[in-house]
Amino acid sequence: MKPLICELCSSNDFIKQDGLFRCQSCNTAYTLEEARKIMSVSIDRTGETSNLLVRAQRFLDDNNFVRAREYCEKVLDIDANNQGAMLLRKKWIIKMLSKRFKN
Ligand SMILES: [Zn+2]
Repeated sequence: MKPLICELCSSNDFIKQDGLFRCQSCNTAYTLEEARKIMSVSIDRTGETSNLLVRAQRFLDDNNFVRAREYCEKVLDIDANNQGAMLLRKKWIIKMLSKRFKN
């Protein structure tokens, strides 16, 4: 299941309380139905980000650093906390540095 992201503060830190999902950082409460709606929206965006991530990874494999970074940033524009993109960005930096040392 996709994480529930607060529409107001973008936090994903929720507790379930009295049948409601309560955001721990801004205290907004969501009903089950609202929570479901938010989660299904994030599912749609996830399909989009995972495609972009695959492309970013391919560019990185081809040592196309400019494009790899571009796609990585696109993912982070959609989802600033995307774990895959953050990992890819680390790989990107490591690969860039190691290439620079070799040259
Ligand atoms: Zn919130």
